[in-house]
Amino acid sequence: MKAKLYKCLILLIPIFSLFSQPSIKRDPNVVRIINEISADSIKRNIEKLVSFYTRHSLSDTLSPTRGIGAARRWLKSELERYSRQSGGRMKVEYDEFIAPTGPRVPKPTKMVNVIATLPGKIYKDKIYIVSAHYDSRAGDALDSTSFAPGANDDGSGTAGVLELARVMSKYEFDFTIMFVLFAGEEQGLLGSRHFAKKLKDSNIVVLGVLNNDIIGNTEGGNGIIDNTQVRVFSEGLPLSRDENLLRLISNIGLENDSPSRQLARYLKDVAERYFDNFKVNLIFRRDRFLRGGDHTPFNEQGFPAVRISEMNENYSRQHQNVRTEKGIKYGDLPEFVDFEYCANVVRLNAVALYHLANAPMPPQNPVIKVSELEYDTTLRWDLSNENDLAGYNILIRETTSPFWQKKIFVGRVNEFTLKNVSKDNFIFGIQSVDIDGNESLVVVPMPSR
Ligand SMILES: [Zn+2]
Repeated sequence: MKAKLYKCLILLIPIFSLFSQPSIKRDPNVVRIINEISADSIKRNIEKLVSFYTRHSLSDTLSPTRGIGAARRWLKSELERYSRQSGGRMKVEYDEFIAPTGPRVPKPTKMVNVIATLPGKIYKDKIYIVSAHYDSRAGDALDSTSFAPGANDDGSGTAGVLELARVMSKYEFDFTIMFVLFAGEEQGLLGSRHFAKKLKDSNIVVLGVLNNDIIGNTEGGNGIIDNTQVRVFSEGLPLSRDENLLRLISNIGLENDSPSRQLARYLKDVAERYFDNFKVNLIFRRDRFLRGGDHTPFNEQGFPAVRISEMNENYSRQHQNVRTEKGIKYGDLPEFVDFEYCANVVRLNAVALYHLANAPMPPQNPVIKVSELEYDTTLRWDLSNENDLAGYNILIRETTSPFWQKKIFVGRVNEFTLKNVSKDNFIFGIQSVDIDGNESLVVVPMPSR
């Protein structure tokens, strides 16, 4: 027994004893983008959004200054202005649909998402999405006339997506990036559900969705004040009705390795390289406890999607009529938004989007060979013929570890064997890397004979 234990320890040493701290590389283009993202610009955009008085999805659409109609026309004109400033490559359009009668829609109502598409140099129909919802609400979900500033929920995310479009449209990317502003979130995720289905039906491959909802408050209702952290929510089990897939996930212990969770890990990994004091907290849960957001309809269609949200919420400033009661100010007002903090959350999006949209395709058809019982672990995938491909990273972690512990660059090959590494005890991932160091999302190999 003792001898066996000893042997096991020896086998583990090559994997986990050789930790060396890799030096952090910051891409100068990303640093430039980070510096261009401006808290002032975000502040101006939030104040403009609040000036429409309400952006409730059932509010006035004809007034030039009030209601959701005026708000969406302004959003479209802003995005068109950014497009003109950057050579007109970014295409701006409305995505209209009729929301049928439902619990929060008294009669069929036209709703309009606002979309700006920056086409990829190489991959036109493979896209990354950064999104927020521009509609707002007061205390009553059906009240379409009261003041509903929605400065933080989700003026912060909307202003952030605008800022990303303004800054990033000056650059070219291999993959298409869509900047998407949803309507109807507060009426039941209506805009995102419509749009996610539309993308699925048109065979567009959504590689990842970063949904920003409530990203500007740093003063928790419980008194905690902290501007150094943000949360990223991701689903564990895919929202899939595929029984075989769910059984396989359960059989081989991949409950913590959905594509959405890989996207969340990626965000933390690359974003924290660029911040000296800003922490990305991964929350291994689809959304906040029993609450929802616009990333979920993408999960329903099988697309990787995460929610980015502030660390400490303040419930007297969300979904409240604007008022003062017993000395407490209620309502989602711009004075409660920390614009510098919001800008940092927006920068985090920019870092991830830049690297994702310039990386090679994630490895295709990744498998873990299981033709016979072996002490080694062999991974295999399709070798890509992309020009700028440098090769592949193999990622490894223990089953109890939330994050990848080891990354091995294995070059431009389509198979790699990890000697004396038992597939019983580790989780494996593979990612593509280009010659500039842009890394793709990590894919987890499935068993194959
Ligand atoms: Zn919201």
